Amino acid sequence: MKEVIEPLNRDTLRYALRINGTVRAYFSAFLREQGYLEIPPVIYSTATDPLNHPVFDTSFEYYGEKYSITKSMIFHKQIAVQYLNKIFAFSPNVRLETSDRASTGRHLSEFTQIDIECLKASRDDMISLAEDMIVGVIAEVKEKNKTELNSLKRTLNVPKKPFVRIRYEDAFREYGKQFEDLLSAKMTAPFWIIDIPIKEREFYDREDPNNEGFLLDMDLIYPEGFGEASSGGEREFEIEKILKRVKLKGQSTDQFKWFIEAASGGLLPSAGFGIGIERLVRYLCGFPRIDMVTPFPKIPGKLSI
Ligand code: ASP
Ligand code: MG
Repeated sequence: MKEVIEPLNRDTLRYALRINGTVRAYFSAFLREQGYLEIPPVIYSTATDPLNHPVFDTSFEYYGEKYSITKSMIFHKQIAVQYLNKIFAFSPNVRLETSDRASTGRHLSEFTQIDIECLKASRDDMISLAEDMIVGVIAEVKEKNKTELNSLKRTLNVPKKPFVRIRYEDAFREYGKQFEDLLSAKMTAPFWIIDIPIKEREFYDREDPNNEGFLLDMDLIYPEGFGEASSGGEREFEIEKILKRVKLKGQSTDQFKWFIEAASGGLLPSAGFGIGIERLVRYLCGFPRIDMVTPFPKIPGKLSI
């Protein structure tokens, strides 16, 4: 029989959920103040994020059309931002990860990310916004959740802007394939990995016109070994480039029909990112495992209710 997830420690779960409440309230208020409009999440669609790593399929047929459960709202963000200018969503994502990810401490096959997109923004703009959000939310949790942090014996330091930026190639050269984990364990403040090679990411991250083969994207990594916090970047918006990139990935355009049709009408440039809420709460609580932050964790490969 498959292993069933044990009921969680009720006190630590309650603390985590209070911190989760602070995070959501802070991000909502902060983004609204910056002129961002909240849009409702998309739960299923004919096009979703293909992701750059294998997950099990969640597609189904409905009245003769093929749909997928949302892996990320990337395409919806890029389209909605064309006429809404600055948007965010608390977006539930289902990524049926393989069971080898059960022990990483940071993978849930169902999670929520706060997904942000801004029209005509650059990567630098989005890095600055994400830094403000991380600095702000850590300060807010320190202020609003003193009791919870004390009970969890968690000391948090508010990081300073600008965060360190490390080029992917430099990190790889110095630390090898495991650079992300090694750097995360070594660093004492959140940091960026930037300029990710084209083959490592999906077609929607924009190739740097001044640095062929590298993307204008960024990953935010937590310190103390907590690993990845966020991915994002500038978007490929010109239809010829989008089609070229889909081809480069060996993908068929059918899978993205709705998005490609919309993009064929012409898109304005945009940039954005997504921050995983459960990963952030796990980091703030200092928990060894991500399943400790939610009452119904979906752990890859394990029977989940
Ligand atoms: N689509 C990315 C992800 O879900 C986030 C982003 O680029 O905005 O990982
Ligand atoms: Mg990522």
